Amino acid sequence: MQTVTLNNGIEMPVLGFGVFQVGPEETEAAVTAALAAGYRLIDTAAAYQNEAAVGAAIAKSGIPRDELFVTTKLWVQDAPAEQNTATAFDDSLRKLGLDYIDLYLIHQPFGDYYGQWRAMEKLNAEGRARAIGVSNFPADRLIDLILNNEIVPAVNQIETNPFHQRVADHEILKAEGVQIESWGPFAEGKNGLFTNDLLTAIGDKHGKSVAQVVLRWMIQREVVVIPKSVNPERMAQNLDVFDFALDADDMAQVATLDEGGSQFFDHRDPEMVRWLSARRLA
Ligand code: NDP
Repeated sequence: MQTVTLNNGIEMPVLGFGVFQVGPEETEAAVTAALAAGYRLIDTAAAYQNEAAVGAAIAKSGIPRDELFVTTKLWVQDAPAEQNTATAFDDSLRKLGLDYIDLYLIHQPFGDYYGQWRAMEKLNAEGRARAIGVSNFPADRLIDLILNNEIVPAVNQIETNPFHQRVADHEILKAEGVQIESWGPFAEGKNGLFTNDLLTAIGDKHGKSVAQVVLRWMIQREVVVIPKSVNPERMAQNLDVFDFALDADDMAQVATLDEGGSQFFDHRDPEMVRWLSARRLA
């Protein structure tokens, strides 16, 4: 598997497997199938409520721990954030059945995320989180976090897909040494992604599916991707993107699909800030 080197020297696979909206009962089978297909990066979160099932699949796989790259995410915490972050991390670790996390992310840029970050810096120093990063951080908040803390986040996981390409954000992240990671690479199929004429034509040219074109397009832009599928055939298809390359014309054509906005919601929308900030995990 092709990897990228994060800003602290850690190697991260460029393609992994996401388990958002996969129920706890379905997750163990899905992760077991994904690991069998060859995925080595698994992306979960405390908020997905399926960490224990991810952990069960990992334990049963027999794959050596150092061949896996496990990401989980910290949800919004009440004060005191530093103490609550340490507790939440221990809880994730216990559910996953692991003694370290490869990448620990602040899930949302809300609440006392400075306190969360200080706790995560400590976890990183202790080697319990090999890399730490953020998710859904607009560029301005990210820069402020960087300017006022010791460790520069290794990753910012943000919605990135053909309709929301994040070109300007990506430039800023690159300049700061922060790896961009796409969530929702297929925009969950919104906006007719899987039947898009332009993507279909590029796929036909290469003998590949729309999904494969989208993943390949992002990998060639140095974006880490974590597609989700509960279907073993589609899992295998999404992994099979390393035997072809999009040419400059293909890349330029995909660039024209950018609509410059989210297919879901804007993390700077005051109503969404209120809604997400109010949510607490059971
Ligand atoms: P995706 O953009 O990965 O889309 C998933 C959907 O696409 C599913 O309905 C899946 O159906 C379908 N699909 C997958 N592969 C194919 C294929 N080859 N052909 C046709 N359909 C396909 O959505 P996600 O929101 O799940 O994003 C991916 C991951 O990103 C998440 O699982 C999660 O780990 C992360 N994420 C992080 C967020 C954050 O706030 N940090 C927010 C959202 C996601 P099926 O399963 O039936 O194959």
